[in-house]
Amino acid sequence: MKLVFASNNTNKIKEIQLMLPKNIEILSLEDIGCTVDIPETAKTIAGNAILKADYVTKRFGYNCFADDTGLEVEALKGEPGVHSARYAGEQKSADDNMELLLKNLDDKANRRAQFKTVIALNLDGKQHLFEGIARGRIIEEKIGNRGFGYDPIFVADGYNRTFAELTLGEKAAISHRGLAVQKLIEFINSNYKLES
Ligand code: IMP
Repeated sequence: MKLVFASNNTNKIKEIQLMLPKNIEILSLEDIGCTVDIPETAKTIAGNAILKADYVTKRFGYNCFADDTGLEVEALKGEPGVHSARYAGEQKSADDNMELLLKNLDDKANRRAQFKTVIALNLDGKQHLFEGIARGRIIEEKIGNRGFGYDPIFVADGYNRTFAELTLGEKAAISHRGLAVQKLIEFINSNYKLES
C-alpha cells in the first residue's frame, strides 16, 4: 500500500520507516512533488497534524498521514507546546530553543515535561487521529548527540539517559512518535488488507 507521509524530515522518515511493515510503501512530500512548506497555523498539535494531512489529500489526492509534535512543560503551563519548533524564533534552531527553555526553567523546581505527537491519517475518505505521549523531565544541561530537537535535555521516566543518548531503535520503542506510529500501524493492520 502506498501512503504519503507529509514530511521531508529525514530523521522522522528514518524513525517511522523502521517501525512500519515492509508492505507499506512510504512516499515523502518530495516523492510526490510537493515542494511548499505546508502552513502550520493551528492552535493545537492535533490541528496542525490535520492541516498537513488535509493539504496533501485535497491537493494531491493521496492517502496520507501527517504528524505534529510538541514538548509540553508543566511549570511553563504546557509551553513550548505547539510553538516547539520556533520557541526561540523563526530560525528554528534546536540549540537556541533548548537554551531558552533551560533559562525559563532556571527558577522552577518542577521539571516535569512530556512530548506529545498526534498523527492524522486520511485513508479512503475518512480521517483518524492517533496520539502518543512520552513522559519525563527536563535536565539542567545538554547530554548526548543523537536524535534532534530537545532530545539532549529530555530524560524519559524510568531512564537515566537522555533521548539523545538512545539509539534510534531504543528511542522509537518508547517515544511519543513511536507510540503514535504503533497505534497507526495497529489500525492499518486490523482494518485494511495489505497488498505487498
Ligand atoms: P514536529 O511537529 O515533529 O516538526 O516537531 C516540532 C518541534 O518539536 C521540532 O522542531 C522539535 O523542536 C520538537 N520535536 C519533535 N519531535 C521531537 C523529538 O523526537 N525529540 C526532540 N524534539 C522533538
